[in-house]
Amino acid sequence: MEENNNTQNNTENSTQEKKPKRTRKAKNNSVPKIINIRRCIACGAHRPKTEMLAIVRPPRKNGVKCMELKIQDGALPKIGRGTYVCKSVACVLKAKKYKRFERSFTQPMAPGTYEQLEEMARESEQKYEAVRAEIAKLNNNVELFINKLVEEGKFEELDRLGYYQYLASKERAKIKARQAEEARAEMLEFSKKYYAMLERESKKSKNNNSESNSEQNTEQVKE
Ligand SMILES: [Zn+2]
Repeated sequence: MEENNNTQNNTENSTQEKKPKRTRKAKNNSVPKIINIRRCIACGAHRPKTEMLAIVRPPRKNGVKCMELKIQDGALPKIGRGTYVCKSVACVLKAKKYKRFERSFTQPMAPGTYEQLEEMARESEQKYEAVRAEIAKLNNNVELFINKLVEEGKFEELDRLGYYQYLASKERAKIKARQAEEARAEMLEFSKKYYAMLERESKKSKNNNSESNSEQNTEQVKE
């Protein structure tokens, strides 16, 4: 009975040792995801700061608070305290209407600040629109591209593109079957040739052996 108790204790100890390791790993994995998320001061949405605009207050110099605020793209590294807004005209206008940045920094914004933010947001929206149009065009082309690859039997390329399931279509099965048959026929032909060659070589070696044997015999006879 004592032995049994000991083994139970051992198993308990081992499980206790394992548990904290797992939690530590999970924490480490979750850290980098949180770091770059910021909240929009207008709509309250949480986004990666690279997708936002910021107004930044540089750090204090000799204990004096800097009153000059900088407008900055969220993708750039910032030094100082930043307040973020989405790269959207609607969010910038909302922030302007409710004076969100003034409240955040408890000071008036320099004239033209909101206008500049609005322009930056509009620019990024236009860029995004262009990217979206490009993606739509690409999506249209992707199907044509896949069909072409299937026709040409470039299955490795398709697998690499992550269209393995697409490749399970009937067309692929047909082509693969055809290719497999061709390959099998080729292999058969090759094996036939190979065995024929092996036979020929074995015959040659036998002949050589018999010749050498006969020579040896003759020598022995001479002796
Ligand atoms: Zn927003």
